[in-house]
Amino acid sequence: MRMGLKTPKEYVESIESLELEAHVLGEKTSGLAAHPLVRPSLQAVAKTYECAQAEETKSLFRVRSSLCDEEVNRFTHLHRNTEDLVSKVVMQRVCGNATGCCFQRCVGLDAANAVFSVTYECDREFGGNYHECFRRYWGDVQRQDLVVDGAMTDPKGDRGKRPKDQKDPDLYLRVVKRMSDGVVVRGAKLHQTGMLNSHEIMVMPTLNMRPGEEDWAVCFSIPTNTPGVRYVYGRQTSDTRKLEGPGLDVGNPLFGGQEVMTVFEDVFVPRERIFLDGETRYSGLLVERFAAYHRQSYGGCKVGVGDVLIGATALIARMNGVENASHVRDKIVEMIHLNETMYACGIACSALGHATAAGNYEIDMLLANVCKLNVTRFPYELARLATDVAGGLLGTMPSAKDLEDPVAGPYIRKYLAAADGVDVVDRMKVLRLIENLVAGAGSVAYLIESMHGAGPPMAQRIMIARQADIEGKMGLVQRILGMG
Ligand code: SF4
Ligand code: FE
Repeated sequence: MRMGLKTPKEYVESIESLELEAHVLGEKTSGLAAHPLVRPSLQAVAKTYECAQAEETKSLFRVRSSLCDEEVNRFTHLHRNTEDLVSKVVMQRVCGNATGCCFQRCVGLDAANAVFSVTYECDREFGGNYHECFRRYWGDVQRQDLVVDGAMTDPKGDRGKRPKDQKDPDLYLRVVKRMSDGVVVRGAKLHQTGMLNSHEIMVMPTLNMRPGEEDWAVCFSIPTNTPGVRYVYGRQTSDTRKLEGPGLDVGNPLFGGQEVMTVFEDVFVPRERIFLDGETRYSGLLVERFAAYHRQSYGGCKVGVGDVLIGATALIARMNGVENASHVRDKIVEMIHLNETMYACGIACSALGHATAAGNYEIDMLLANVCKLNVTRFPYELARLATDVAGGLLGTMPSAKDLEDPVAGPYIRKYLAAADGVDVVDRMKVLRLIENLVAGAGSVAYLIESMHGAGPPMAQRIMIARQADIEGKMGLVQRILGMG
């Protein structure tokens, strides 16, 4: 494969050359890159390549690698200091601004930084060579400028039972056979963001595994076109609007997200691509670190998309002739306040990061969890305020096709007119973009994923309770009051 930073075109071609197939809306489908449901998501990932080429953004997106001493895309970078952690969040906001959706490439970045430090610590205890294997592997990823899907979430079956107690043990991905040259794995990973736009899959365990659950404590990488890996494309609200033709009703005509159910049907993984196999107590550490990096990520990407929603809300207020109404101005200020609060957490957990034993940098765990807990709430409030300001037309507007109708079209143009000089079709476009984010295909990433991605609110609450040193705070009181 060609080395060095890829152009967006080279990226798209490299994905096409993998010849991936997926079940999409009931049909086994090839030629995915051109498929109208898939194409917008591929274009969103391609933005991460474009930004590394564009004059105004390339200094942020390009960085010298500590692994291969080459300039690489920051989306493959192992953070060397707190500035790198901050730059990651800034970069994600830029991508959210440019696409107005999930651009998918952060999951592999977050997985890599977690696997890098965990393999080092695991080898230090057990004397294995996972870390060396990973360094070699990730150097290749950087040199070839690849997209890696970080795959963590197992189906989980009965949530009240451990992996080994499930009626079907495959409900958590596991090793079913060990050989001298590798292992065979079976299971599935759900909610896989950008899987079909990726060159590689990096599988991680989903839980802190316990002794006796060695078969489920497995981490490895394989190419997405490995035999035995199957894909089923996830539906999104209003997704079939993408099949209808003109982009107006889609809301975000160029970009979109992608979620995929991924099945591993007895898949062989060669030894040099295995980064954990049976060391149960490192599985929990891996989950925790990956989740924390991804909770940091949301303080950039969701903020970038939030900027787009705030912009659309301000624009529709202007188009409706109410931009100077004090309550509208106040609602927009509230949206900005919430959005910047999430950003402040993303920046803060980065600025207070620290070195791991392996040498890469990790965010402040407490603040990363606070960041994500805010993200489980604030985008919903932003969406509520946007809906409030946009007005009821958001839910009742006629279709783009009716605009072309000789009878309905002129009525639409006449009765959807608003402030002087505002083009009716432009007004419809802005309303559809807001609809996309608050109730359409974009709400999958902007709202549902804000709730559940990188773990639901309860997962962050558990980490916050663990990190916050409540005993220490009680000690403060005791010292101030001269107690004990
Ligand atoms: Fe990146 Fe955000 Fe999408 Fe996760 S939701 S992959 S952090 S853009
Ligand atoms: Fe996510």
